[in-house]
Amino acid sequence: MTRTGPLVLLVEDEAHMRRFLRASLTAHGYRLVETATAAEAMRQAKAYNPDLVILDLGLPDRPGGEVIRALREWSAAPIVVISARGQEQDKIDALDGGADDYLTKPFGTGELLARLRVALRRAERVGQEAETTLSMGDVSIDFTKRVVTVSGREVHLTPIEYKLLAALGRNAGMVLTHRQLLEQVWGPTYVDQTQYLRVYMAQLRHKIEADPARPRHLVTEPGVGYRLRVDSDDASRGPIKET
Ligand code: CA
Repeated sequence: MTRTGPLVLLVEDEAHMRRFLRASLTAHGYRLVETATAAEAMRQAKAYNPDLVILDLGLPDRPGGEVIRALREWSAAPIVVISARGQEQDKIDALDGGADDYLTKPFGTGELLARLRVALRRAERVGQEAETTLSMGDVSIDFTKRVVTVSGREVHLTPIEYKLLAALGRNAGMVLTHRQLLEQVWGPTYVDQTQYLRVYMAQLRHKIEADPARPRHLVTEPGVGYRLRVDSDDASRGPIKET
């Protein structure tokens, strides 16, 4: 293993938030480049080619969404956006525009590190052979055989239920917006049919969750979408183990 951790470009104009992020990230082996403006972020992204970008959506010079669009023209580095509570539409626009995940202020170090780990892990897998199985606690998905088991017992899913679970599973740990899920599972003409999602998500929860009213795996991101939660013990780990 290399001693140099992933390089993060941190774009955030609030000094106290930058201090918190700097302390959290450097303590866990990340390397850091920082800026407070969209314009400087674009220059630094080109100069340093970071492994991951943390982007505040409320920047003083230009909307964060413009940074996402510009970055996505040439970079596949994961983008995790930071937004304030209540900015659901901004989060949705960011995710639909090419961001990978988001953090809502205030958030703790554990949540931050978990999100970055998931985003980096998924970026590493791009270009490699697709994963054939996924295990999350008592639930397993075999993508090759299209078989889902809960506690070792096969669960019968309809084709739509399977596609929905597989879409979340291929992005395990990451949020997918309503629009992204509807487009992937039903097709591009269904992107406004959010009631489909509610119905099928309820069915899926009844089939795979021990307590469908308190889902452990299929988590609602209010106003934004859904996430297949990764194991909670991942949350405390960064890319480099603390000694
Ligand atoms: Ca800001």
